[in-house]
Amino acid sequence: MILSFDFVERLGGGLAKGLIAGSILAVIAIIIGFVCVSIMKKKGYDMLVGWFFCGLCLGVIGLIICLCIEDKTKQIPPSPYDSYVNPSMPYDHQTGAQCPHCGMTNPLGAHFCNGCGNKLN
Ligand SMILES: [Zn+2]
Repeated sequence: MILSFDFVERLGGGLAKGLIAGSILAVIAIIIGFVCVSIMKKKGYDMLVGWFFCGLCLGVIGLIICLCIEDKTKQIPPSPYDSYVNPSMPYDHQTGAQCPHCGMTNPLGAHFCNGCGNKLN
């Protein structure tokens, strides 16, 4: 249900357009249903058989469409902010040198203190 609404949203955008698109699809489905019923009636079957095949086919098509639509949850791009909070990055304040003059923890490999500018040993 969520997937089908998302699909309509992508086609038109907005709830109003989605409802219009959904209504058009429902009308098309009913027309196809009546065609199925008339074909099955000519072949001597009950009208329920026609509706059954129509519903079955539309359901299968809907399922195929839902399965073919790309997964949004797998396409989250990595945020550039992640590199600043990632503890495996070289700029790790926990393992950096502590300044003997002001006590500030500096990035690993720094030669001068970021806090006071004194040389780090
Ligand atoms: Zn310092």
